Amino acid sequence: MISPLMPTYKRADLAFERGEGAWLYASDGRRFLDFAAGIATSSIGHAHPALVRAISEQAARVIHVSNLFRIPQAEKLAERLVANTFADSVFFCNSGAEANEGMVKMARRAQFLAGHPERTDIICMDGAFHGRTLAMLSATGNPKYLEGFGTPVAGFKHVPFNDIEAVRAAITPQTAAIMLEPIQGESGIKVADPAYLRALRALCDETGVLLALDEVQTGVGRTGRLFAHQWSGITPDVMSTAKGLGGGFPIGAILATKVVAIGMTPGTHGTTFGGNPLACAAANAVLDVILAPGFLDQVCERAALLDTLLDAIVADAPEIFDQRRGLGLLIGLRCVPPVGNVQDAAQDAGLLCVTAGDNVLRLVPPLTVTETECRDAVACLARATAALKDRANIKTVLEPTP
Ligand SMILES: *Cc1c(COP(=O)(O)O)cnc(C)c1O
Repeated sequence: MISPLMPTYKRADLAFERGEGAWLYASDGRRFLDFAAGIATSSIGHAHPALVRAISEQAARVIHVSNLFRIPQAEKLAERLVANTFADSVFFCNSGAEANEGMVKMARRAQFLAGHPERTDIICMDGAFHGRTLAMLSATGNPKYLEGFGTPVAGFKHVPFNDIEAVRAAITPQTAAIMLEPIQGESGIKVADPAYLRALRALCDETGVLLALDEVQTGVGRTGRLFAHQWSGITPDVMSTAKGLGGGFPIGAILATKVVAIGMTPGTHGTTFGGNPLACAAANAVLDVILAPGFLDQVCERAALLDTLLDAIVADAPEIFDQRRGLGLLIGLRCVPPVGNVQDAAQDAGLLCVTAGDNVLRLVPPLTVTETECRDAVACLARATAALKDRANIKTVLEPTP
């Protein structure tokens, strides 16, 4: 028997009735601090009044018209993203994978129009995650995700992350772009060295290869800057983003320089839903919060507080955690016991987290999380840690090693 809802996820047995800020209320009456945030997506918390208002008001006016007509909400959103980033032009879509697909199309088309139709290959990183469409599975390259889905889409090759010489050696006359996450999220919160990003930028300038960043998870304030690459002082040629952009409402975006965007003339790319009035109203409401003066400084302050408190937990429980990593409010704690056990213990203690690769517990609270909530979350984690330690002790008492 298969469930009517296709069982592609191993779901926790929890359903939520409502949320408020960083809190989620389950139907069984329990409440949880939400440091999962819908996988780094509920960027301004649950039921944010300005987001609720923007969505309800827009829904009552017009939800969808298609891209056959002007969409003032999308024009406004694009103007704001252009004004606040390297980009000259923006394409809106519905998800991270779709944004990455479009990003690869744009990079190839820009090379084609620059007189290099042979430049179609994309260099990706070991440990990457770019989404679940057929082409993005190939860009991701993880054999676990590819199994049973046929011949991988051609044109993607992989090199070790944070290794500039490996990229240099992999560039051929057929290379169109280098594509990477400034912080690898799914594979375990692995931060690209700023010097590595600067060297990649220089290598791209030298070779005419385009730099394509996947900021689906790292973007929209998650790291304390609007986009994570800003910490390294470089700019990409093209970039995708999605998760936090709509505060939980589905929307993705491809941001490009004019050199990359120039080939994207009418008919070259499209989407029925992408950038509709409702999605763009939601994203504009999110940007109102994130671009407000002082907001990103506050994200950095919360991150610094969490770093300090979490370092104490890691130091206190080396048998549970062996490392903290990440940037801003994209935090990873590498676990010693299986991360699933730590996640379950945290949940029992009232804290929702996400797992990531490399046995990492991922903490990605709403960017609006308060100082008190940060302290509460760490207290939950301390209780979870104590419970795990107790369990381990009981186990050694009950089952002494022979
Ligand atoms: C989540 C994620 C994606 C895929 O986004 P979807 O909206 O699930 O398609 C792609 N890249 C990165 C870095 C992600 O974190």
